[in-house]
Amino acid sequence: MKITEHIQQAKDTLISFEILPPLKGKDISSIYNHLNPLMEFKPSWINVTYHRADTMIKKRNDGTFEKVAVRKRPGTVGICAAIMNHYQVDAAPHIICGGFTKSDTEDALIDLNFLGIRNVLVLRGDAAKNETHFEPEIGGHRYAIDLLKQVKNLNRGIYLDDEIIEGGKTDFCAGVAGYPETHFEAKSYEEDLQRLKEKADAGADYIMTQMFFDNKKFFKFVEDCKSLGINIPIIPGLKPLINKKQLSVLPKIFNVEIPHDLSNAILQTTNDADAEKIGIEWLVQQCKELKAFGVPVLHFYTLGKPQTIYNVVKEIV
Ligand code: FAD
Repeated sequence: MKITEHIQQAKDTLISFEILPPLKGKDISSIYNHLNPLMEFKPSWINVTYHRADTMIKKRNDGTFEKVAVRKRPGTVGICAAIMNHYQVDAAPHIICGGFTKSDTEDALIDLNFLGIRNVLVLRGDAAKNETHFEPEIGGHRYAIDLLKQVKNLNRGIYLDDEIIEGGKTDFCAGVAGYPETHFEAKSYEEDLQRLKEKADAGADYIMTQMFFDNKKFFKFVEDCKSLGINIPIIPGLKPLINKKQLSVLPKIFNVEIPHDLSNAILQTTNDADAEKIGIEWLVQQCKELKAFGVPVLHFYTLGKPQTIYNVVKEIV
């Protein structure tokens, strides 16, 4: 089922989770072990992130060097199919511009369609580790909106090869990313919102947000989206802050502010267990407020911390 259908049919706030593919070499059982406790909350769907390959320099036996592409977390499409089979729950793979040509993307979408996957979260992806800024693949897309347009074209039966006339139509529900505190590369909040409006106008079915720790920022973002005429569902992306290190790392990587009350409380703790307790309490409070505000879904970034997320969700369902 599509995410938009889940939202339309919901009688209460829905729950969804996001997972990362395991590091290469690990078994699918690591995904099931991660998800098993969380399935108690009957998530409406599971998102699976996509990770582009990084370029590495490796030393050959003869002492010379070679450039190799290494993907540390492969398997997004397979994991989605496995999750759907194993739990009978919908899966939403992330698809990205980075590292993909348009025809790689078309092939990937055809695979997803054949597997019965109806949802994709359409993203640009970040710069490769060895690059200072995002560069598209030759023959690939520069912005998420261009990838979105390709997905929407395939939904109309329009393939890259114009010799395919009356091609089979896919039926993807396509979400896009939104940033209540502005994407780190955007010139301004206003310009970033305008870019989001363009994605909505190009047919995005819903918006999933970057994490945030101050609900006021999310509420303002939702109001500003409405004022601009963005009328698709906005799903808050949520993550607990669970240790002191994250106080400096998260703002730097994700361009999010940590409210003083939360950072002060975390700074006063003397061990990780106490810090995690504070982070859980904070997120529980955030979720209660978001529910009261009427968000359609609470989407949790589980990121290797299923027990922490379990402790949050059990307080709010
Ligand atoms: P875009 O919408 O393309 O925007 C990127 C930047 O360009 C923004 O600053 C925007 O304002 C600007 N912009 C957009 N269009 C234009 C235009 N036409 N002209 C000029 N400027 C423009 N990354 C991964 O690699 N894998 C994942 O699985 C993944 N999952 C994510 C899930 C969520 C919910 C979120 C919020 C992010 C995720 N990311 C993931 C990270 C994401 O790829 C990065 O944040 C990336 O830097 C931007 O992606 P985007 O889709 O928002 O890009």
